[in-house]
Amino acid sequence: MKEQFERRSGDEMLHLTLCGGQARVLLGETTRLVQRAADIHRASAVCTAALGRLMTGTLMMGVMLKGAEENVSVTIKGGGPMGTLVAVAQGGDVRCCCDDAGVELPLREADGKLDVGRAVGHEGRISVVKDLRMKEPYVGQCNLVSGEIAMDFANYFTVSEQQPSLVALGVLVAGGGVKKAGGLLIQPLPGCTEETLSQLELRSPMFADISRELAAAPKEELAEDWFRGLEPVLLDRTPLNYRCTCSRERMERALLSIGRKDLQEIIDEDKGAELSCHFCNSVYRFTTEELRTLLASAEH
Ligand SMILES: [Zn+2]
Repeated sequence: MKEQFERRSGDEMLHLTLCGGQARVLLGETTRLVQRAADIHRASAVCTAALGRLMTGTLMMGVMLKGAEENVSVTIKGGGPMGTLVAVAQGGDVRCCCDDAGVELPLREADGKLDVGRAVGHEGRISVVKDLRMKEPYVGQCNLVSGEIAMDFANYFTVSEQQPSLVALGVLVAGGGVKKAGGLLIQPLPGCTEETLSQLELRSPMFADISRELAAAPKEELAEDWFRGLEPVLLDRTPLNYRCTCSRERMERALLSIGRKDLQEIIDEDKGAELSCHFCNSVYRFTTEELRTLLASAEH
């Protein structure tokens, strides 16, 4: 009997296994949340693609975490004009920022695609911090391979976590908007046979251009097509959203973290303070009186 996966629209991550647990697959669509990030950061096409790929890859790590409170942040510092890129995922929620999302570059001459590798740069590192609610966070990092992000994630999984992985990440930007975005992760698990591995390798050209594939067919249909004959089983599906976790309390903590002396200086200037969140642009204003109360509360 052939399994038919129920079609659902919207941003979502499908979790599948193949061949009775020989491989894990995550297939996600992230179109809406990438558009949301592009709007928040007023991102150019190439920066939208870079941030979208980074968020999609980070979400793959996010949905693999076990606890609801656990989160993962991925930082890419490649030396390119976008500066440092950061994405944080907690379950299916993700947020991102970078130093300059307005960078514009000509399309790549070779294939006419957005030049993400140049915007990000490849002289640097990808760093992963997983807050697993233990004493110390898990930290892993490795050198960037290309700045194209999918290959950098694949290399990170393979080198830093000793987990061979196939990663495809794609953002299709057209007509000033995100037409489709998404990604695919395939990880062979212990007990994976040579036969299954070679089947997956044979099929890998099918998933190379993931955003175009997603534009042509629903993700559930792609999963059925790509993994036909490999017993794909749908284990779970996680809704995905762009969501920030900032709050007035967090901003108060940020203000206190600059130190008593600096905070006192701001109070003495008597202009109040205005903080904006890098991830969502929310603005938090504090009056001098509020800052005084804040400082006093910290002195107890
Ligand atoms: Zn925020």
